Amino acid sequence: MAAYRCMVLVIGGGPGGYVAGIRAGQLGLDTILVEAARVGGTCLNVGCIPSKALIHVAEQFEAAHRFTGDNALGISVSSPKLDLATAMAWKDGVVGKLTGGVAGLLRKAKVRVIEGTATFKDGKTVEVAKVDGESDTITAEHVIIATGSESVELPFLPFGEDVISSTGALALELVPEKLCVVGGGYIGLELGIAYSKMGSAVTIVEMADRVLPLYDAELTGPVTKRLDELSITVLTGAKVTGAKDGSVEVVDASGATRQISADKILVTVGRRPFTKGLGLENLALDMDRAFIKIDDRCRTSMRGVYAIGDVTGEPMLAHRAMAQGELVANVIAGQNDSWDKRCIPAICFTDPEIVSAGLQPEEAKKSGFETIVANFPFRANGRAMTMEREDGFIRIVARKDNHLVLGIQAVGAGISEMAAGFGLAIEMGACLEDIAGTIHSHPTRGEALQEAALKALGHALHM
Ligand code: FAD
Ligand code: NAD
Repeated sequence: MAAYRCMVLVIGGGPGGYVAGIRAGQLGLDTILVEAARVGGTCLNVGCIPSKALIHVAEQFEAAHRFTGDNALGISVSSPKLDLATAMAWKDGVVGKLTGGVAGLLRKAKVRVIEGTATFKDGKTVEVAKVDGESDTITAEHVIIATGSESVELPFLPFGEDVISSTGALALELVPEKLCVVGGGYIGLELGIAYSKMGSAVTIVEMADRVLPLYDAELTGPVTKRLDELSITVLTGAKVTGAKDGSVEVVDASGATRQISADKILVTVGRRPFTKGLGLENLALDMDRAFIKIDDRCRTSMRGVYAIGDVTGEPMLAHRAMAQGELVANVIAGQNDSWDKRCIPAICFTDPEIVSAGLQPEEAKKSGFETIVANFPFRANGRAMTMEREDGFIRIVARKDNHLVLGIQAVGAGISEMAAGFGLAIEMGACLEDIAGTIHSHPTRGEALQEAALKALGHALHM
């Protein structure tokens, strides 16, 4: 049993924790990071990165398939096949490169990494149970909790065998013939669409009256249309009540009970904060439901104990965790930082993709703003036509009085890459005139942003 002392102890090596570790190291703070599984956390190992890799595989396979029939481009391909095991091995390679990179960055920042599960003994001391059965004690001036989140399980559909979580769906070696997805949110739609493109017959069962209820109906419209084109069955207002013998029992919106045959059932009904084994009972932290309550400097209710990332609440997004990781290290180093971000852009990597930065029109109204809302469709955008994807639009929400941009949303193929520009405009306090007056290169989808701003000002040029 070893005993360590340090200035900063980070518990959890996901995007929140590893960024906090790197930044603390850069600031010259003696830092230890404890990770129970693998650095990179959910995001790199079983979340953002592997899911986007699988979505890429699915897109390539679907494109190849499209060319087996008549198509406007005159390309002809015969019977493409997908070996999912090979694709998964490639995906694992991408994950390995990134997690190896993170381990290297932590080393470069002189952060000591200990593999094991950390349990609080008190606010300054944790015990680490290591895989080899040994345990270490670490005493730290400042402790950052970054233990992330886990998939919510339905009591009548426990994970195991054919009932899988996103982690299981990212490790299948065969494409299931029939896949039933329970929960039509981020993961259900991203992975449901991917498996449909890879050949599964997919049914999505969503409790709310439409999929992706986080986004407004105008934004989800083009995705709903695409689900239909992909022959994905969507049951909204429906509840799963159980499953047996390869069949899922669903009570649909009309109250009728239906059986849906499925080889795999993917349950994606949300994530909850992960604090199992952390010994929170030995601390006196204020909580916000199951999440750890923090202030605008990521401080908890106990002096010297901080929390960041999914364990602190919504939105459970990797870039929020990373921003908090950087902030908390700066705070511990004595800098005067606090959370003053204007927006946390969100992307749903569906087909087409959805991006939302800042306030959606209804949210702006509820916040008391009088607004101008304008949208520019990709059907009037040259680049979208050259890429055969004219579905979707860019929408801009601005204050009526001074034209300050409150929100930018978009739905369209490949539109995720524009999230940076949307976030930048809002963070820098752009007005409609700033966006309208910026030269947007031609031909790009980005021109639709300039056109949306021009339209909001009453003089779109290409419409
Ligand atoms: P995590 O990444 O969950 O990391 C927490 C770490 O803490 C884990 O490695 C865990 O092993 C470790 N840990 C827990 N308890 C202990 C303990 N007691 N001792 C030591 N270590 C411990 N977000 C996006 O922004 N974009 C996306 O495209 C996206 N896609 C996703 C796709 C899927 C399938 C999933 C599941 C999630 C996705 N997310 C996405 C969400 C994103 O992964 C999380 O928001 C992000 O990983 C949260 O980071 P974190 O550092 O808070 O926690
Ligand atoms: P989610 O909250 O996005 O969606 C869950 C969906 O399940 C909701 O639409 C909800 O109405 C529905 N639901 C809940 N209980 C149900 C039930 N019993 N039957 C049927 N439907 C039910 O959750 P998720 O898809 O599991 O993802 C979890 C979190 O991970 C997200 O909230 C997000 O923070 C993060 N994530 C982000 C991305 C991204 O940024 N692209 C991708 C994946 C995951």
